[in-house]
Amino acid sequence: MLTSFNLTQLILISALYLFALFGVAWLSERGMIPRRIIYHPLTYTLSLGVYASAWAFYGTVGMAYQYGFGFLASYLGVSGAYLLAPVLLYPILRITRTYQLSSLADLFAFRFRSTWAGTLTTLFMLIGMLPLLALQMQAIADSISILTRETVHERVALSYCALIILFTILFGSRHVATREKHEGLVFAIAFESVVKLLALGGIGLYAFYQVFGGAQGLEDWLLSNQQVLSSLHTPLQEGPWRTLLLVFFAAAIVMPHMYHMAFTENLNPRALVSASWGLPLYLLLISLAVPLILWAGLKLGSNTPPDYFTLGVGISLNNPTLALLAYVGGLSASSGVIIVTTLALSGMALNHLVLPLYQPPAEGNIYRWLKWTRRALIIAIIAAGYGFYLLLGSEQDLANLGIVAFVATLQFLPGALSVLYWQTANRRGFIAGVLTGIGVWLVSMLLPLLGNIQGIYLPVLDIVYVLDDTSWHLAAIASLAANVLVFTLVSLFTETSPEEQSAAEACAVDNVRRPQRRELQASSPQEFAAQLAKPLGAKIAQREVEQALRDLHLPFDENRPYALRRLRDRLEANLSGLMGPNVAQDIVETFLPYKSDSEGYVTEDIHFIESRLEDYHSRLTGLAAELDALRRYHRQTLQELPMGVCSLAKDQEILMWNRAMEELTGIPAQRLVGSRLATIAEPWKGLLESFINLPDEHLHKQRLALDGQIRWLNLHKAAIDEPLAPGNTGLVLLVEDVTETQMLEDKLIHSERLASIGRLAAGVAHEIGNPITGIACLAQNLREEREGDEEIAEISAQIIQQTKRVSRIVQSLMSFAHAGGRQQSDEPVCLAEVTREAISLLSLNRQGVEVQFLNLCDPEHWVEGDPQRLAQVLINLLSNARDASPPGGIIRVRSEASEQTVDLIVEDEGSGIPKAIMDRLFEPFFTTKDPGKGTGLGLALVYSIVEEHYGQITIDSPADPEQQRGTRIRVTLPRYVDTTSAVTRDRRES
Ligand code: ADP
Ligand code: MG
Repeated sequence: MLTSFNLTQLILISALYLFALFGVAWLSERGMIPRRIIYHPLTYTLSLGVYASAWAFYGTVGMAYQYGFGFLASYLGVSGAYLLAPVLLYPILRITRTYQLSSLADLFAFRFRSTWAGTLTTLFMLIGMLPLLALQMQAIADSISILTRETVHERVALSYCALIILFTILFGSRHVATREKHEGLVFAIAFESVVKLLALGGIGLYAFYQVFGGAQGLEDWLLSNQQVLSSLHTPLQEGPWRTLLLVFFAAAIVMPHMYHMAFTENLNPRALVSASWGLPLYLLLISLAVPLILWAGLKLGSNTPPDYFTLGVGISLNNPTLALLAYVGGLSASSGVIIVTTLALSGMALNHLVLPLYQPPAEGNIYRWLKWTRRALIIAIIAAGYGFYLLLGSEQDLANLGIVAFVATLQFLPGALSVLYWQTANRRGFIAGVLTGIGVWLVSMLLPLLGNIQGIYLPVLDIVYVLDDTSWHLAAIASLAANVLVFTLVSLFTETSPEEQSAAEACAVDNVRRPQRRELQASSPQEFAAQLAKPLGAKIAQREVEQALRDLHLPFDENRPYALRRLRDRLEANLSGLMGPNVAQDIVETFLPYKSDSEGYVTEDIHFIESRLEDYHSRLTGLAAELDALRRYHRQTLQELPMGVCSLAKDQEILMWNRAMEELTGIPAQRLVGSRLATIAEPWKGLLESFINLPDEHLHKQRLALDGQIRWLNLHKAAIDEPLAPGNTGLVLLVEDVTETQMLEDKLIHSERLASIGRLAAGVAHEIGNPITGIACLAQNLREEREGDEEIAEISAQIIQQTKRVSRIVQSLMSFAHAGGRQQSDEPVCLAEVTREAISLLSLNRQGVEVQFLNLCDPEHWVEGDPQRLAQVLINLLSNARDASPPGGIIRVRSEASEQTVDLIVEDEGSGIPKAIMDRLFEPFFTTKDPGKGTGLGLALVYSIVEEHYGQITIDSPADPEQQRGTRIRVTLPRYVDTTSAVTRDRRES
């Protein structure tokens, strides 16, 4: 006969295995396993292998025996769900991550905005999962008694439970917040999946090669045992098969351990892509071994029930290694499920059973309280599973137990699908549906299981219902059908609350959430923290607010209404990860309320919609994608418009601030959009606010001093209907910068005025011309008449010279009037030479104060122009300088050259020119001097001559800012560039 193991040995092996599991988890928590491996999609895929519980490990062989190929349903169902990942699992993953929902109960409570939805889900999930937990314990106890051939169930199961509790507490409930993942747990569960695969695959291969002797042997055996094959086929057409498929399809989402591994402990969202084919592959490999083990068990005539053929093969072959392999595989399958299920259920119970009834006081450390309560719940749940196992008295087959559990969770499938695809569903429908489904399940499946009720008499159909292999699927379908029917009808015929509606939109696939734009009472993150300190305690409140700000990449001094609304949402999500969506919603609604809108003005948040649309961009297809492209195009047009655009909502929240606006104001849109107009910096605030309140639609040439510079702006506005809230008119403001046009205009007006005054002057000059000619003639006559008189000759010569100068001035005055009409003959002019001439001319006039002229011009500096007229420029500038200078003042004339131009600079140490008259200096007849002394024509002439020479004048006064005196006049003239150096020499010689 075969070896039997002794109990101590087995317990030792089990303990060793569990400690190995502890080791793996511990190593990865310590960071000794590279992150690359822990975050690898393969690890995630394998961790989903938790699906293969003891039921899959042992029970599927029994199922294959019972239902034939129907056992494949457990593999095909879940594979189907994973192959549908893009439409089924991604959306759920997205919702769970965004709103930090850690379980199906959280998801329902969030979607249906109802504490009851969460509580009922938790309650029924607990009841529904008890058979599955009991199954795992029974499987271990059974396999030990098969191996030891003693009945030792209870004690063994109890010590096994203790170890599992320890592991779950140590590695599964380390962090309280959903956002922090348990890497050790994920890695350990992945490790267990490998063990399961190796064990089952090993036994399968052993059966194939050793029991049957390869493919040929197997074929021969199957040929001679036709009835085995036909029993695999026959039941396929019947009801259980389809029901099984549905049940296992649902299991992928609704079973707490699957939900927990797939969504809550998902370390890397992209890994879901690999898992969508990786998990089906893994399960396929496992299923391949099942028929081999079944046939081997049948061939060997194993004396274990078909459920335990996996063990039986080793025992019948008298191969202890094989039997142990099967035992360890089964151990890892059941421990994985118990650990993950318990974790998931404890989270649900905490959020939906404990917290709604009792919330920890704010003074204590809430994090610690949450952690320890959760640990207590873990112990309680495993204890309940153990209790249920005792209650059943270990008399049930695994397959039955499993199916009862699976059908219970099936009741949540309609709810889960409605979260994604049916927005009309509401909480009343959901709760009514689940109650109905669970009711049917209780009566038709759980009670028969517990009470050994022989049969239920159904009066309408006039049959007696007995729960057995052939009838359970009727119960399953009946419960689901009743559930769906009630769910649909109640949802259709009852009202949905607005907040439930908005949660439904948030959950729906490819639907952008459109939150409402309302103002919060708290107006800064500090106020948020102060408010939250009431329920959470100051330290935790501060920590949560900071975390949320970090998540959103917002600065700590944020005060835009838009950003604060995002902060509130984020806080709700983070708190939901901590204490479940109900409590989070409660806290946020109580302590961070919106201002009550007296005007009833609530619109949707366009800015937020827009930023969400950006995220959705790549996912839009068809018409939606085209519309989105159109939207982008229009938006781009507005963004790039070379004119400032700013649009405002009715409550003056800034919705748009385009690039031109950013450049003009120097305020980036990033910081501004979403805040009130009143919060922007001056002078913009004053300008825009006063414009908004004006009745005019256009405002031209507004003067605005902007960092010391004057800007001229045209403002326009128009009312626009807010697209999502008709009846609410916002405003669009256009700001046009016309500073440059204004400056050009000013210049034009200035020269226009100069020209007109000049024409007047020319008229006067013309009149002066005649008397001057007269004077010149008289002087001529005088000289001729008094020939010989030296003195008279001298005086008359002077008079003639002066009259010549006067006529030259008159001439230039006339030419000044016809500016631009110069018939010039440009020649090279040496500045030093002209300056010397001008100085000597001025020295003749001894009327003014004694000053000293210094000619510092570089003789190498030549300009192009008319030497006569340039001398006039200098004479005027120098005489002005002399008039302004104190006695003995020094007047310097210098030249500076650049490549194209030469600057002639006249600098004095005189009074300087007051700012107030700076603009008028070039006007003809503008003078500050006493009548008779100044004509006010000097600078006007200089201006027109310099203009003729295509030059420029700039005036610096005071030239010496320290002493507040002196004037520097710089005349820029085009430089004469000699083509040959010989020319220069020629000129200098002559
Ligand atoms: P006028 O010399 O006949 O007054 P101008 O056109 O030459 O007329 O000059 C106009 C005015 O500009 C003067 O009256 C004087 O007030 C001012 N001005 C010109 N040059 C200087 C200078 N170098 N320093 C101080 N004031 C000056
Ligand atoms: Mg003058």
